[in-house]
Amino acid sequence: MSTDDKNQRDDNRQDGPGLEVELYPDGWPIDTRALYPLALERFGEEYLHQAGRTSLRNGQRIAQSECCFCMYCGYRFDPRENPPALMRERDGSTTGLCPLCQLDMLLCSVDGYPLTDPVFIAGMAEYTFNGYCPIADGKPIKPIVWKTIEVD
Ligand SMILES: [Zn+2]
Repeated sequence: MSTDDKNQRDDNRQDGPGLEVELYPDGWPIDTRALYPLALERFGEEYLHQAGRTSLRNGQRIAQSECCFCMYCGYRFDPRENPPALMRERDGSTTGLCPLCQLDMLLCSVDGYPLTDPVFIAGMAEYTFNGYCPIADGKPIKPIVWKTIEVD
């Protein structure tokens, strides 16, 4: 990465209150479209499908993990240091929300998927989002800051 690139990245940084985030996680973008055939060959569609399903009702598994990875924006973090917000499901279970993009697309290390393998990551980005995600396009992510509004 050149110094200019680094400076531009820092200029675009907009951290939410108390949240240290890396808006451009290193390594993005990756050419997910080019890697997808290899991901299908290596892992198979069913494996990618099952991995995607683990992003729901994963609150307890997040608590047992040392790494979480957002398959939408590519944010990787230690949930013990930066616990994600949890959304309560109808059945009483909880689903973790990405601290950066707030989507319910977190994969947990305790589930055993190869969260640092670019071929797996490319496969998930293509299978889940058709490549329309920051992992593939490298566009910056602005952290969502929640505001309370009152409605009559
Ligand atoms: Zn995210």
